[in-house]
Amino acid sequence: MGGVVEMLPDQKQSDVSFMTIALEEAKSGVEQGEVPVGALLVSSTGEELGRAHNASIRSTDPTAHAEILALRQGAERSGNYRLPGAILYVTIEPCSMCAGAILQARLARLVFGARDPKAGGVVSLFQILGDPRLNHQVEVREGILEEECRALIRSFFQMQRLAHAQWENAKMHSERNPRSSDAGRQGDTRLP
Ligand code: ZN
Repeated sequence: MGGVVEMLPDQKQSDVSFMTIALEEAKSGVEQGEVPVGALLVSSTGEELGRAHNASIRSTDPTAHAEILALRQGAERSGNYRLPGAILYVTIEPCSMCAGAILQARLARLVFGARDPKAGGVVSLFQILGDPRLNHQVEVREGILEEECRALIRSFFQMQRLAHAQWENAKMHSERNPRSSDAGRQGDTRLP
């Protein structure tokens, strides 16, 4: 070992460590009302190149997904629009737009936590990163901190549904009682 540059730790271990950072990033997006998806981009030697969470709502930008923002940071930092050898860690399976961007950046590897059965562009709906008709393929690994990643997004959508139901309830109540200005008063949410 003496004199030899320390090798990267076991890949599984480093995958978990990097995904933990992506997960923290996803959590910080929740506070801003964004869908909690976090991404971390690292170089082939494990150097951080970018990290981001979804910011579509705040920045009124449909393309401001965590993956896109992290790739932009990485390209800017590297001074190169291609990021060969780089690895992207994402808490949720990327959508088709992000999978396309991952190809454009020529990443070597994608690691994600949980699948997105409704919009996933890597394994669920499309398999963009492994399509042999394209001139670049990306190694994919899934299931790293899967439960944590899924639980975070699931609780976010549950909270959203709950808030929406409460809002609908209050709206219906005030429509039926137009003079009532305290439709949301606690204990007074039942319909007449
Ligand atoms: Zn996306």
